[in-house]
Amino acid sequence: MTNANTDTLFADAIGRLDQAGKIAGLDPEVVELLKHPKAVMHISIPVRMDDGSLKVFEGYRVRHNNHRGPTKGGIRYHPNVSLDEVKALAFWMTCKCAVVGIPFGGGKGGVTVDPRDLSHMELERLSRGFIRQLADFIGPDVDIPAPDVYTNARIMGWMMDEYSKIKRQYSPAVITGKPIPLGGSLGRDDATGRGAYYCIKELEKRRGWDPTKITVAVQGFGNGGQNAVKLLHADGYKIVAVSDSRGGIYKPEGFDVPSLIQIKNQSRKLKAVYCDGSVCEAIQADSINNEQLLELDVDILIPAALENQITSANVSNIKAKVIVEVANGPTTPQADAALVKNGTLIVPDILANAGGVTVSYFEWVQNRQGFYWPVQEVQDRLEKIMRAELNAVYDLMELHKTDMRTAAYAHALKRIGEAVEAGGTQRYFSEAN
Ligand code: GLU
Repeated sequence: MTNANTDTLFADAIGRLDQAGKIAGLDPEVVELLKHPKAVMHISIPVRMDDGSLKVFEGYRVRHNNHRGPTKGGIRYHPNVSLDEVKALAFWMTCKCAVVGIPFGGGKGGVTVDPRDLSHMELERLSRGFIRQLADFIGPDVDIPAPDVYTNARIMGWMMDEYSKIKRQYSPAVITGKPIPLGGSLGRDDATGRGAYYCIKELEKRRGWDPTKITVAVQGFGNGGQNAVKLLHADGYKIVAVSDSRGGIYKPEGFDVPSLIQIKNQSRKLKAVYCDGSVCEAIQADSINNEQLLELDVDILIPAALENQITSANVSNIKAKVIVEVANGPTTPQADAALVKNGTLIVPDILANAGGVTVSYFEWVQNRQGFYWPVQEVQDRLEKIMRAELNAVYDLMELHKTDMRTAAYAHALKRIGEAVEAGGTQRYFSEAN
């Protein structure tokens, strides 16, 4: 189901601009500007494989907009990566950074590859090769990559090391999500899930939820999904269904999430278990597939895998009352419209998963200061931002009697618009004549 309509992802993404631009009272010039990425780089990366053969991989980096600061966004390794997808993801980063008010524009990168097919050494050569091609295109004040789907701290470390070698200067601020000994920030590893968790906690307050009565299903058990449900579980939420790319498990009474994480990280497999220390025992649960997980009758559905999961093909079967988009772009515009009509509350990706880039910003600040913060300080600052911006978006939604996604875009566009307008728009230049 992933990337079923990959060629329309960017067009779908910018389709949100017109309506939200009106609510934000945006100058049409700003909307027009945001419909075009600032710069697009398409590269090929030759890699010497372990068997001596040469393989050439396709890679991309898109800088969407830098009116609010250097462009910022992850690098994805996935077999479905395409230029259209990277453009959409870069656009979302522009909006995401503006939603949470951090001083960055949006960018994104990707390599069309299944990293599971590569050895560790091949992966390192690919990652360093990618940075060699991109070195003149990125930089601490230009464009700052980070991890995304199937990339991680170790890969960021290799990339930072390669960039530093090319520039002959230790340059930790060129990339975020690095290992801690290479200038990473404490609290970056679970920041995406934690940001989504704070959004849910704020909804809990506004809606008067009792966590022990709230059921949750999560599609995708990578970094974002795991950490979001780990924190929710600790607060008493019932995590009844979990899936990864191979399939899922369902247990109406709820799972012990730390046990699922323990076994997944040990065996790379999702298994229904309960662990006591290092001893894990299988427990009774139903096997379900990813499609079935999305259609469960739960209170909160967390799509935390890839884009285009909730589409016009399955939207009529979606029963969750609240959807929290930890993945980027999991809901197509058609499905989104149908859900909104049904009264489903959707916390949109550009808000729900903004915790990752927010702590990336803290990492960049720490790298530039050469002064590192304790984890509590990182978490406190993240919590303050996520709760405040969730409430600002929620208030805007109620004020304009609109959906939360449109409100989040309006909130972001207002900030981007202010930056563009500060440089002058048609109104200013016509008056000057
Ligand atoms: N890849 C993450 C995202 O989509 C994090 C980006 C970053 O930290 O720059 O938000």
